[in-house]
Amino acid sequence: MIAVLKNTATKEQIDNLVGWFEDQGLKVNESKGDYCTVIGLIGDTTKIDIEMLQGLDIIDSVTRVSEPFKKANRKFHPEDTVIDCGGVLIGGGNFAVMAGPCSVESREQIIETAKAVKDAGATMLRGGAFKPRTSPYDFQGLKEKGIELLLEAKAVTGLPIVTEIMNEEHIPLFADIDVIQVGARNMQNFELLKALGKTNKPILLKRGLSATMKELLMSAEYIMSEGNENVILCERGIRTYETYTRNTFDLSAIPMLHELTHLPVVADPSHATGRRSLIRPMSMAATACGADALEIEVHPNPSKAFSDGAQSLTPDMFKEVMEQINKVRGIL
Ligand code: PEP
Ligand code: MN
Repeated sequence: MIAVLKNTATKEQIDNLVGWFEDQGLKVNESKGDYCTVIGLIGDTTKIDIEMLQGLDIIDSVTRVSEPFKKANRKFHPEDTVIDCGGVLIGGGNFAVMAGPCSVESREQIIETAKAVKDAGATMLRGGAFKPRTSPYDFQGLKEKGIELLLEAKAVTGLPIVTEIMNEEHIPLFADIDVIQVGARNMQNFELLKALGKTNKPILLKRGLSATMKELLMSAEYIMSEGNENVILCERGIRTYETYTRNTFDLSAIPMLHELTHLPVVADPSHATGRRSLIRPMSMAATACGADALEIEVHPNPSKAFSDGAQSLTPDMFKEVMEQINKVRGIL
């Protein structure tokens, strides 16, 4: 249930009302905007008398929220959430580009890539240290060493780091990481989500391979309900019957999610298509339809990459893609 308050409501009146809701056993989510305050109520609201509430002087309107996601719901929080990712803002008109290799492979590789993507205009560095691979025989990542190398690359370039976690026991290793990524394969690893909900790190939550948008939002809710509201959603393609592309890029998820939630929405054209030649057009398309950030794989020598070479751009190609993205941003 949400109660929109009149802008004449005083702090004391709001506090009294919030106290009363809490006495009813409800969790209260207060969102103060420029024009009004919205109070979101989570819990069993069946015993709340809507007509009684509507009769109060300070109430503008009361509505029941039918969607199962509450904290992530735009109705609870009409304004876009802006998330500070190690000094780079995402959301509410702030646009970021996270670029870098699929996997961190060596000091030279990650530092060279970090410098190149920064020169081209990327604002964050991505790179996998713990890799979720389909085959246990494929490269699994440099793990702790990979995290150390990412932090070295940050020290050299100043770019904040986004990297994937697979196991809640690894959370302490991510203490200096700016954004923790939950990959598609772990979108419904609820124990991991709950543990990340107890941290205050920005979480980049990727859509599962066959997940609906509602399931993605419910996974965000798992993190938020534990107290961490710094969640960024990521559309990275979903599995369909199509085989020319690695996944099917669900572009419509970007504006759809913006309607449903106040959380920022990132697009990952690399995993969505699996093809280098499609990164430029799909980056432009995702930017045009409102992505708050892009995550793009870049490797200094894609043919030698330990993972995802076929979808990785060279630094020169990435530079061109950045120019096109900036043109689209200019038009917007
Ligand atoms: C990745 O970003 O490296 C990755 C594994 O992505 P996804 O979880 O979307 O497959
Ligand atoms: Mn990858």
